[in-house]
Amino acid sequence: MTTAQSNDAIFWSHRDNGRDQLAPLSIDKQTIDAQTGDEQADVVIVGGGFTGLWTAYHLKRLAPEKDIRVLEARRFGHGASGRNGGWVVGNLAGLERHLKGLPLAQRQALCELLSANVDEIGATLSQEGIDADFHKGGALYAAARYPAQEALQRGYLEHLLALGHRENDCLWLSADELNARARFRRPFGGIFHRQVATLHPGKLIDGLVERLAAMQVRLYQQSPATSIDDGKVTTPQGSVRAPMIVMATEGYNTLPQLRPHLVPVSSLVIATEPLSQSQWDAIGLAERSTFADASRLINYGHRSRDGRLIFGARGRYRFNARPRHQAAITQGDIQMRKALLQDLFPDLGEVHVSHGWGGTLGLSRSFRPHAIVDRRAGIATAGGYAGEGVAASHLMARTLAEMICGQDTPQTRAPWAFDGCALDQVVRRWEPEPLRWLGAQTITLSYATEEALASRERHLPLIGPALSRLNDRFAAVIE
Ligand SMILES: Cc1cc2nc3c(=O)[nH]c(=O)nc-3n(C[C@H](O)[C@H](O)[C@H](O)COP(=O)(O)OP(=O)(O)OC[C@H]3O[C@@H](n4cnc5c(N)ncnc54)[C@H](O)[C@@H]3O)c2cc1C
Repeated sequence: MTTAQSNDAIFWSHRDNGRDQLAPLSIDKQTIDAQTGDEQADVVIVGGGFTGLWTAYHLKRLAPEKDIRVLEARRFGHGASGRNGGWVVGNLAGLERHLKGLPLAQRQALCELLSANVDEIGATLSQEGIDADFHKGGALYAAARYPAQEALQRGYLEHLLALGHRENDCLWLSADELNARARFRRPFGGIFHRQVATLHPGKLIDGLVERLAAMQVRLYQQSPATSIDDGKVTTPQGSVRAPMIVMATEGYNTLPQLRPHLVPVSSLVIATEPLSQSQWDAIGLAERSTFADASRLINYGHRSRDGRLIFGARGRYRFNARPRHQAAITQGDIQMRKALLQDLFPDLGEVHVSHGWGGTLGLSRSFRPHAIVDRRAGIATAGGYAGEGVAASHLMARTLAEMICGQDTPQTRAPWAFDGCALDQVVRRWEPEPLRWLGAQTITLSYATEEALASRERHLPLIGPALSRLNDRFAAVIE
């Protein structure tokens, strides 16, 4: 068995043409040197993940004359964008916090915007000739292992509809209907959400970098911003001055401006070898829908274009909010996820896990994503996607670009767009350590205990419901 290696040359370590290692970027080496000397630009973007690259893309589309530079501390896609689970979700984690108090018609229009964002990503990729395995097969949110999951999923469906998602997009599937789509161990029913797609993160990074180079965006790697001050970004060998600086570092943030507001939380993923046709016949997923099993301990999977199962589960917060730079994960981490996958799909039989990798996502203290342009400070930022950032980063990047260009659009009027605000006005600060770490440990333990009781179908008359109520409270705080 091989695992993802931890050097910087690796994005997402499974690819059609290379088992254990991604090929290096295919673009001209000239465009990815480190930044040197003192430069001037119209916009400088710090962070070379989806947020930074999509922001550059949308800015260049709106204002081709703008001189735009992207500074990436390591390699493009080093952060979560190069190593995620590939779900492209037509929703936002924490959306309810943005929609609270809005009339139904407005909520529905915003949900439409989120659905349209998924299709727009697909359309842009085909228009730009970026083959990133984009596939819209919807998502299955399943009650798949124990009876208590059915109520959780029915509650989630109510939540999606109350937010303003269309009934036609979020359907309840009976046990038989679910079983026709995917052969889970114990199908009790679930939700089919039409507005979800998948893509290959590494291929999207490659494609965006190549496209941006062709659009005359200046791209720099190995160029960490060591400070951002008074319209100037300093790097180890130079600086870039610009009237607008975009901080796009999300869960890999190293900037003092963002550290109090965003914390990194890790998540780990495995990929199997391509399955045989008889294995796919046994477990279903013919439409390549994504799947998640209702549990407080999040898991997420899908069938890749090259016939692998990609499956992520469970994460944790590390003391003092340290991002996870290393991609490799342990055999124990791999085995735990493999066992959960086989528990979900017992007909899978023996399966070989060829890859595993981990990374960190960004969680904002306000538990909702944001796109902020602080015109007075000349600073913009987007993030706080809480693990649902593949589609959200595209939407927030577009929103940032439109705000920077002074446009009035449905995106710039959306409740996650904050024009003329400072970060401190929009996103609260996290509690100091060790409170943050202790809080995270308590919630993780409490969730794990509830999951253990529910999955063993243990009905403890007092403890079970009390724990569930306690976790509902935690969820209300952190969802
Ligand atoms: C294991 C895992 C699975 C996930 N699965 C999914 C999924 O299936 N679907 C989904 O929607 N979301 C998923 N996510 C979340 C999603 O990947 C992220 O929300 C999204 O990629 C964030 O993009 P970003 O560009 O904002 O940040 P990142 O991709 O993290 O990029 C930030 C970049 O900033 C750079 N940087 C940091 N500091 C500096 C500095 N000082 N100077 C210059 N550069 C700097 C970093 O090196 C990094 O490359 C997952 C995340 C993880 C970790």
